Amino acid sequence: MGQSQCTAFPLPQDHPRFTYAVMTAPLIDPFARAITYLRVSVTDRCDFRCVYCMSENMTFLPKKELLTLEELDRMCSTFVRLGVEKLRITGGEPLVRRDIMTFFRSMTRHLDSGALKELTLTTNGSQLERFADQLFDAGVRRVNISLDTLDDQKFADITRWGRLPQVIRGIDAAQKAGLRIKINAVALKGFNEAELPRITEWCAERDMDLTWIEVMPMGDIGNEDRLDQYWSLKDVRAEYENHYTVTDLAERSGGPARYVRLEETGQKIGFITPLTHNFCESCNRVRLTCTGELYMCLGQEDMADLRAPLRAHPTSEVPLEEAIRAAIEHKPKGHDFDYSRQTVDGRMSRHMSHTGG
Ligand code: SAM
Ligand code: SF4
Repeated sequence: MGQSQCTAFPLPQDHPRFTYAVMTAPLIDPFARAITYLRVSVTDRCDFRCVYCMSENMTFLPKKELLTLEELDRMCSTFVRLGVEKLRITGGEPLVRRDIMTFFRSMTRHLDSGALKELTLTTNGSQLERFADQLFDAGVRRVNISLDTLDDQKFADITRWGRLPQVIRGIDAAQKAGLRIKINAVALKGFNEAELPRITEWCAERDMDLTWIEVMPMGDIGNEDRLDQYWSLKDVRAEYENHYTVTDLAERSGGPARYVRLEETGQKIGFITPLTHNFCESCNRVRLTCTGELYMCLGQEDMADLRAPLRAHPTSEVPLEEAIRAAIEHKPKGHDFDYSRQTVDGRMSRHMSHTGG
């Protein structure tokens, strides 16, 4: 019929500018949320085995399943062309992926062009001593480092394979390189409750931001019991009130974090409370796994396979762009996590390391 029109683009489909208009239009989901933030898991592997994230004996994906570094570049560059302004690299542990610096360096061109506003990563810090300078040179300015305790033995217990001094050296190197650091601590009942003031003051001394994360029901983690681990951030906040004067801040980052200020130290503390607050209405993000699955929501199983169109068309990004747009059309309104009535409903079979935290 030739003259049929797409409602978003009032040009006939045979008009020479139709394809261009479709391909350069920003990604807007059915709830009018612009998708500007992509999290990319570059590997499912990790050099730690945190008890809330992985079981001790994990089976990892065969290599051929993973997107190559070139494919990751094509994926991310396509998202950037479609309006993604913030790219967060995660995993697994992103810095254990072989040659990952090649990928970071390849993303620098999007920072240089101004299309990408921020290139960042979430890491356990174990490899930062080696990579901090190179990350800074690639244009990374901020890093999230996950750290749940400052006690050597507890650190070894919670990460199973990690060693705290190595991570501290990584943090030192990152600060020396000029990277701004945010510490992410998972709030774990009976584990780091008593350490709250110490961790907070340690972050203040080093001028690092701090965010507490509620433990989420992701994946089979062996013998650990989620409800045993769950320390509500409402209670974490109450614990802060026992030690400090706490003021709520209106500031939102477009993500699930809410912030308070501690008047005594001037510090801003974040709370990521996916279970006790619904943050979905302002969600601007999607997640790409290391195998090229696009998850529109961390808390839903719905995903789109982007690897198939990518591999089937090595010289054209048009099918990939169409697949991305079709996927965004299915971004759900919100997630279904629910710990109410002491049962873990809305439980996810995926591990966090698969989707990328
Ligand atoms: N390996 C890197 C790290 O640990 O920072 C990046 C990947 S890790 C999956 C990303 C974040 O997810 C970490 O801050 C980790 O603490 C968090 N995480 C993992 N499993 C979680 C769970 N079940 N609930 C809440 N946060 C979790
Ligand atoms: Fe590895 Fe990060 Fe998961 Fe810990 S939280 S096991 S460091 S991926």
